[in-house]
Parts: sequence; C-alpha cells; structure tokens
Amino acid sequence: MDASTVTRVALIGGDGIGPEVTEEAVKAMSAACGGDAFRFDRLPYCADFYLETGKSLPEGELLRFKRDYDAIFLGALGDPRVPDMRHARDILLGARMKLDLYINKRPVRLLKEELCPLKGRRRGDIDIVLYRENTEGAYAGIGGTLHEGTDDEIAVTEMVATRRGVERIVRAAFEDARSNGRGRVCMASKYNAIPHAHGLWSRVFRAVATEYPEITSTERFADVVAMELVRDPTQFGVIVTSNLLGDILSDLAAQVVGGIGLAPSANVHPGKVSLFEPVHGSAPDITGKGIANPLAAILTGAMLLRHVGRQADAKRIDAAVDAVIASGQTTPDLGGTLTTSAVGDAVCSYL
Ligand code: ATP
Repeated sequence: MDASTVTRVALIGGDGIGPEVTEEAVKAMSAACGGDAFRFDRLPYCADFYLETGKSLPEGELLRFKRDYDAIFLGALGDPRVPDMRHARDILLGARMKLDLYINKRPVRLLKEELCPLKGRRRGDIDIVLYRENTEGAYAGIGGTLHEGTDDEIAVTEMVATRRGVERIVRAAFEDARSNGRGRVCMASKYNAIPHAHGLWSRVFRAVATEYPEITSTERFADVVAMELVRDPTQFGVIVTSNLLGDILSDLAAQVVGGIGLAPSANVHPGKVSLFEPVHGSAPDITGKGIANPLAAILTGAMLLRHVGRQADAKRIDAAVDAVIASGQTTPDLGGTLTTSAVGDAVCSYL
C-alpha cells in the first residue's frame, strides 16, 4: 500500500484492559504517521455486546471487515461473565479461520537487561520471531463429546495438519529468516508422540529447508525448545510451530523478555486484511486501574503499520518504545510508576 493513502482500521477495543491499551496504540500510530493517515472505526464488539444482543458479531461482519478495511486492531477479549469465552472464540478464531490468517507472528526481543529473569542476558541478546500456525492443529474445531455429564463421558478433539497449511507457514518462517538476516529456523514439534500430524510437519520442514541452503535449520521436540528457551534463548532466531504448541511457547518466550505486557502479535495473511492484537488477555484483575501496560498494544500497532507498508513509521514506534523502556518510563509491571496513558504520552513524545 502507498504510504500516502488512508489506512482503514476496524478497531475493536473489546473487554477489560483492551479499550485502555487500544487507545494508546491509536495515539502512537497517529503520532507516528499523522492523524490523517488513518480512519479508525471504533466497533462495540465485546462481552457487553454479546450479553445484550446474544451475538458476538452481526451477521456477515467478518466478511465486511474483508471488504471495508485494511486491517483489524483488537485490544483483548475475555470476561468472567462469559465463562465459555464464546464471544472471544467467535471473533478471534472466527477471524483467523474466515479471513484465513494462517500466520501468527510473535516477535520476542529483549529491550533491557533488567527485564530478563535470566542471569547475564543483555539488551539485544534475545531476538526471536515465533511463527505459529494459526488455522489448523487442535484449534480446527473438529471433535465432539459423547455421554456428556455422565461417568462415561468421552471427548475427542482432532488435530489437523495439511500439507498446504504446514508448507505455507514453514515457508513464511524461512522467508523471514532470509529477508531479516536471522539465519536460523528451528521447527518445534512432537513427532515422537504425534507421528501422523507432526510427521507431516517434519517432512514438509525438511523439504522446504532445501530451498534455503544458507539458513541453518533444526528440528526439535517442543518440550526441549521450552527448556532451551529458558536455558539459552540466544540460540534461537526464528521458531516455527503448530497452533497449540505455538500458543504455549510464545507465552514462555514473552516471559523471558519482560512479560506479556510487552508482547505484540499479528494474525496475518500476506497481502490481505489481517488482525493485530497484543498477546495478553483482558486482565480483569487490573481493569480500570490505569496501570495496564500499553506497550504490547503499541508494538502491535507497529506490526500493523509494517503490514500496510509503513515500515519507516513502524521503525520509529519501535525506537520510541525502546527509548521509553530505557528511561524507565513504564507501568508497575515493568517496575515503573506511570499510568497507562502516561506511558502512551511518553512514547508519543519520542515520535
Ligand atoms: P483472559 O482470559 O482474557 O486471557 P487472563 O487474566 O487469563 O485473561 P491475561 O489477561 O493475559 O490473562 O492476564 C494474565 C496476567 O497478566 C494478569 O495478572 C494480568 O493482570 C497481567 N497482565 C496482562 N496484560 C497486562 C498488561 N498489559 N499490563 C500489565 N499486566 C498485564
């Protein structure tokens, strides 16, 4: 997209701290690109909307997103009043599946030594991008229950792996390693325990790796990757993995560089309308207190800018977040004393 055109963003603040952090991301994106660069449409989809209307989204809304917007920005979904998370599943998993957002990209960078719970790791030592497959695996929604609520209850969830689905995410990981000079791709699977689905992952990974001879490729069991992320995270460049394993490994990796208050993510189909959301949830325990860390949402905004072709502006946001962290202008989760909006203002002051 031409950086001079208006980027149309469907903005879903969602539940809990979602709206609080989303507004800070809007502030930072507008400061980086100029307010005229965007049209943000604030949409009301959240637990309140679901409880009032009985619907997570109006009929056909996901298809309208595809037609009317360049990107979707989501704060967070999740509310104790909706214990089965129905609206969150409909919106988030619905968008991932219906918009075919097959890449869940989660960068993990250590921005300050003090944020790392491990000894002796310095700023820049840890710089990983995790590619999580986002449309298949145990999240494909295939399964069922028998004799529910009785002692004979049976529940089955099928794990889906297709050659096409695995190949496209593995290729995206290798392309990142090539274009960003990361030089390494590690595939995490459990093909020892799940030989069919993860055997396919293994075969596809080896085949794709031959097209990238300059990239070091390794296959490891996901439990070993979890261990190694704690023992020596500096050994990783790009990690590619399946849906459920990626969910777990990316939270673990985020914790190693300062926690989920700093972890951005993008649900992407290259060239198509994609969805951007911080990794964290709605955090009901801190909602309304003004202490939610907005940096994950702001870094997520930078990922959105990259997706719509505003690389230089995205870089400026990343640099502003670096500066804010280096100067200790943070919320209490990172050891600071600032409020959510004061951190947003601090980021904007560097833009
Ligand atoms: P959900 O069900 O929506 O995922 P959750 O409470 O299970 O909600 P998170 O919302 O991710 O999961 O919260 C996990 C912990 O991290 C909570 O203690 C929360 O306060 C904290 N947390 C999450 N996001 C932030 C943030 N942006 N800033 C500060 N703390 C956060």
